[in-house]
Amino acid sequence: MQKEEKRKILIELMKKMKADDSLPLKAGCTNLVFGEGNVDTKVLFIGEGPGFYEDQQALPFVGRAGQLLNELLTSIGLERKEVFITNVVHHRPPQNRDPLPEEMAAYQPYLDKIIEVIDPKVIVTLGRFSMGKFLPGVTITRVHGKPEVVSWNGRDITIVPMYHPAAALRNGSIKEQLAKDFLVIKDVLNKVEEKEKEKDEEKKKPKQESLV
Ligand code: URA
Repeated sequence: MQKEEKRKILIELMKKMKADDSLPLKAGCTNLVFGEGNVDTKVLFIGEGPGFYEDQQALPFVGRAGQLLNELLTSIGLERKEVFITNVVHHRPPQNRDPLPEEMAAYQPYLDKIIEVIDPKVIVTLGRFSMGKFLPGVTITRVHGKPEVVSWNGRDITIVPMYHPAAALRNGSIKEQLAKDFLVIKDVLNKVEEKEKEKDEEKKKPKQESLV
């Protein structure tokens, strides 16, 4: 799908979400935080849910955790505007509490559509809630920084589970680990690019034509 087409579909989806009064966390919020970034990216970041500043600005990861996320992206040579960032729930949970299973379920069709349209090769999950969507039953302490290819709605996507930047702000050793784990994103993206190049080369090769 072309970039412009992706943008159009996502803008329509955002309008639909804004008008959806059935979304359980909508009451009491200032804004919907749909997500932002490059809709044509190979790597999608999925966090947990908006906090105070995100709710005020209608943008994901703009508070302290967002500041750290920006620094981590820069550390691996990625600019925030090159990637797309969204969350498991798109309205701020009261007092920043964890999203409940039924709340995540209510936002899921929208998140799934965002993933489908962006069609990323790599998804970086920030924290245990987005990790649980793709890698149910695992614990973050065991799998952080370990990429795993999953088949999601018929597509192969490499999931890179990470600690949440907010956890890193509370704990220095998690912060160190998160910085190390971010290096994995670079490796995974390099591999994805190599694979794509190989595929392109394969397409360019003349096919053996047989008359029998
Ligand atoms: N934490 C999240 O999980 N998402 C945001 O958008 C901000 C903070």
